[in-house]
Amino acid sequence: MADTPQAAQSGRRMLLSIDAAVCTGAGTCEAMHPELFRVGPAGHAVVSRTELTAPEDIEAATGVLDVCPTEAVRLALADAAGQA
Ligand code: SF4
Repeated sequence: MADTPQAAQSGRRMLLSIDAAVCTGAGTCEAMHPELFRVGPAGHAVVSRTELTAPEDIEAATGVLDVCPTEAVRLALADAAGQA
């Protein structure tokens, strides 16, 4: 999904999660950024941190979001997520 807010580049707080219902567990995310993603025993990816503030972490998560084959990576502005 290509709807990552541009605010990700400005150091805002972002919430990272995985939609386990669509994740295949193939592990592309873990291969790219093991500091953020790991395929757990349940067969789908899990994140090591749910809240990202460092620009490099947000950039890493955005890169994975762009290549995840099932669009299972969820990245949202922390402010906006509270209104959903
Ligand atoms: S790249 Fe996407 S589908 Fe593959 S394990 Fe990671 S979150 Fe799941």
